Amino acid sequence: MRYSRFFLPTLREVPADAEVISHRLMLRAGMIRRVAAGIYEVLPMGLRVIRKVENIIREEMDRAGALELFMPSILPAELWQETGRWDFYGKELLRVRDRHSRDFCYGPTHEEVFTDLVRREIRSYRQLPLNLYQIQTKFRDEIRPRFGLMRGREFTMKDAYSFDRDLAGAERSYQAMHEAYTAIFARCGLRFRAVEADTGKIGGSLSHEFMVLADTGEDRVVSCAACDYAANLEMAAVAPSEARQGSGPPPDSGLDPEDVQTPGKKTVQEVCQFLGITPQELVKTIVLKGEKGPVAVLVRGDHEVNSVKVRRLVDDETLELADAETVAAVTGAPVGFAGPVGLKVPLYADNALAEMAGFVTGGNADDVHTRGVDLADFRVEAFADLREAVEGDPCPKCGGILTFLRGIEVGHIFYLGTKYSEAMGARFLDESGAERIIEMGCYGIGVGRTAAAAIEQNHDGKGIVWPLPLAPFQVVLLSLDPGKTEVHAVAERLYEELTAGGLEVLFDDREERPGVKFNDADLVGIPLRVTVGGRGVKEGVAEFKERATGEESRVPLDRVPDAVREFVRRQS
Ligand code: ATP
Ligand code: MG
Repeated sequence: MRYSRFFLPTLREVPADAEVISHRLMLRAGMIRRVAAGIYEVLPMGLRVIRKVENIIREEMDRAGALELFMPSILPAELWQETGRWDFYGKELLRVRDRHSRDFCYGPTHEEVFTDLVRREIRSYRQLPLNLYQIQTKFRDEIRPRFGLMRGREFTMKDAYSFDRDLAGAERSYQAMHEAYTAIFARCGLRFRAVEADTGKIGGSLSHEFMVLADTGEDRVVSCAACDYAANLEMAAVAPSEARQGSGPPPDSGLDPEDVQTPGKKTVQEVCQFLGITPQELVKTIVLKGEKGPVAVLVRGDHEVNSVKVRRLVDDETLELADAETVAAVTGAPVGFAGPVGLKVPLYADNALAEMAGFVTGGNADDVHTRGVDLADFRVEAFADLREAVEGDPCPKCGGILTFLRGIEVGHIFYLGTKYSEAMGARFLDESGAERIIEMGCYGIGVGRTAAAAIEQNHDGKGIVWPLPLAPFQVVLLSLDPGKTEVHAVAERLYEELTAGGLEVLFDDREERPGVKFNDADLVGIPLRVTVGGRGVKEGVAEFKERATGEESRVPLDRVPDAVREFVRRQS
C-alpha cells in the first residue's frame, strides 16, 4: 500500500476526550473516529487490524468444528419475551418499533435467536452436537460507553452457541472452546490468562473469562505464583485458616460488651485511631439488601465484603449494598455505626471472624461503638468465605501465594445448561425415541476490544507496538528522498519485490520530511521499519529497525526481501 494513496489521517495532538491509551492511540494512528457516544467509524488502518483478529478467530473456531453463519441484528421482541429477557435486560437493550408498531430490539447477544433456529431445525440426537457461530455487530446501550472500541455501544462480537445431548457432551464442547480461545489469544501474540468467572444467575461452575494482562485493565485477576490457579477477584476463594479447621469452642475474651462514644468516627481508620486499636481488632457490619430482604455481613476491619460470595451463600442474586435508609431502618443508626449485637436481620460472618474475640463493632446508635464483643454475644446464621481475597493470601488450590494482576476481559465462555432450551422448548429425540432438552453453552469474544487490549498491552511513548500477528502491515518501507531520484527508484524496486513476495507493506512515498515519516511509523506501530536513504543507497544498504526492541541493522539491498521474510517468520 502506498501511503500517498492510503487514507491514514494521523494526529499529533492527544484527543481531549480519550482517557485510555488504546483509545488515544487508535484515534492518533488513524484507526477510528467517533460518530456518537460509543459509536465509531473504523477507518482502513483500523479495519486491517480488525480483520486480522477476525481471521484468527475464524480459523480457530473452524478448526474446533464450529460452523459460521450470520444472524440478523434486528430481532423480534417475541423471542425475547419467551425467555423473559425482554423485561429483564432493561435499558441496555435498544428497542425499536417498525411501521406496523411491532417491537424489535437490536441484538446485544443472540442466545434466543440461535435457540430458536435449533428448535425449528434439530430433531434427532444424530444432528448433535452442534456449535454455531457468527461474527457480528451488537448493540448494548451501555450507561457509560468509554475507552473507544473497548466499551462501545455498537461493537463487533464473535458469538458461538453449542448444542449437546447431555452434560458430558456440553462439557466437551466447553473444553473445545476453552482450547480454541487459548489458541486464538496465543496466536494474536497476547499475554493472557483464562480465569474462573462468576456464573451469576445460571449457577454451575463452568465459566471462564479470558483476560489480556495490562496494568491499565479494569478487571482484577488473582493468580497463584506456584500453580495454574487464576480467578476473577470476585471468584477468588479464600481458604479458612488452619487454626480453625479443627473446631473447638469459639474463642472468648471474658469481657462484657461495653458501649463507647465515638463522635463522628465512621470509617475503620477513624475508629481505630480514636480507640487505639488495629483494623484486625475491629469487625465491620455491612448491610445488604435484596428481593429476599436485608442481611448483614461481618468481616474483619481490614477485609472487604465480596458481594458475589454473599449472593451465592444467601441465594439472592439481587443483593446490593443497602442504601442509608435501609441501614437506618435495620440498625437504628446512620451508616457507619452498624454492629451485630441485637441486630434483627440474618447475620453471616466471614471465616476470619471464627478466630476473633473481644473485638470492636458498631453500636447500632449514632456515634456509638461497642468494645469487648465476643461471638457468643450474637447469633450467626453461618460462617463462610465472604471476603475478597487480598494479595499474599494462600492459593485455594495449592497453598502457594496469591498475586494480583490487572486484565481486560476479551473473551467469555459459559456453560448455560438448559436455561434457554427449556424456556424455548429446544428438544431432540434420543436413541430410545424419548424427548430430551438440549444442553447449551455460549462463547463470546469482543473483536474491537481485543485490538484495543493489544494496544493497552503493547505500546510505548511513541505509539503502538503491534504484535506481528495483529499488525496492519508487517513492514513499513520509507523512501527518504521521494521524487525522481535514484534513492526513490531503489525504494520503488524494493516495494515491488516485497509485495510480490506476499508481504504486507506500507510504502511511505509521501513528500514529507524524514522526521515526519519516522514519527508516523512509530505511531502506527508496524513491527519492522525499512528505511531507504541517500547515504545507505550509496553504500548499497537499507536500514532495518525493529519497533518492539529498537534494534537496528544494515542490510544489503539485494538481501532485503529475504531479511524481511526472516523477520516475519521469527515473529509469527
Ligand atoms: P463486560 O463485563 O466488560 O461488560 P460482558 O460480561 O457484558 O462484558 P459478554 O456478554 O460476556 O460481556 O460479551 C462477550 C465479550 O464481548 C466480552 O468478553 C467482551 O470482549 C465483548 N464486549 C462486551 N461488551 C462490550 C462493549 N460494550 N464493547 C466492546 N466489547 C464488548
Ligand atoms: Mg462477561
